Amino acid sequence: MPSILVVEDDDAIRAAVRRGLSERGYAVAAAANGMAGLEAVLRDQPQVVLLDLGLPDIDGITLIAMIRAASAVPIIVITAQDDDPTMIRALDEGADDYVVKPFGTDQVAARIRAVLRRGGQSDTGPEPLRIGELVIDERTRTVSLRGAPLELARKEFDLLLALAHRQGEVVTKRELLAEVWQQAYGGSDRTVDVHLSWLRRKLGETAAEPRYLLSVRGVGVRLVDPGSP
Ligand code: CA
Repeated sequence: MPSILVVEDDDAIRAAVRRGLSERGYAVAAAANGMAGLEAVLRDQPQVVLLDLGLPDIDGITLIAMIRAASAVPIIVITAQDDDPTMIRALDEGADDYVVKPFGTDQVAARIRAVLRRGGQSDTGPEPLRIGELVIDERTRTVSLRGAPLELARKEFDLLLALAHRQGEVVTKRELLAEVWQQAYGGSDRTVDVHLSWLRRKLGETAAEPRYLLSVRGVGVRLVDPGSP
């Protein structure tokens, strides 16, 4: 069953949501403040985050942006009342849905199923891609290297995934612009170069001493398993 992270400072609500979802078979983790929640997103890579907007340490809208910078995990916001301006900001920052207190577990469970469906995720999905010590999980849009999670921005993830789908093949910058940036015409190779260099840094390699990302001068780049001949 999908793993759910509940970020909520109200002990009673957190316990009730945790219990209700556990009874329905979900694997539930919980955090009582924003920083602990952000750490749990990065460390545990849950498949859905339930996020209370009124947290003691970080403004909920800011926290959504911080999570979004690192992960595309679906976020369902928990809000105290129907507060349209706040909800609109939350959705603009990348929240996927919301529930208004008080709410029942059935309602939350239905929202969870909906965001998983919308994200093309279900209880089963594509298995993570494993290339050497690199693991790329499309369902949770997370990446780890030697078991340690990497914090990739959206386009960095998309770029890595596009290359991983064609592991070992040379992919041209033009193809990457079309696939990752939807710029079939007029895009700049520079966009690809810059993101490649960011990706290299996060993978702990350089263009001069590559491991996974091999540049093919004047053509493009290919993703390889550095451990295989
Ligand atoms: Ca609260």
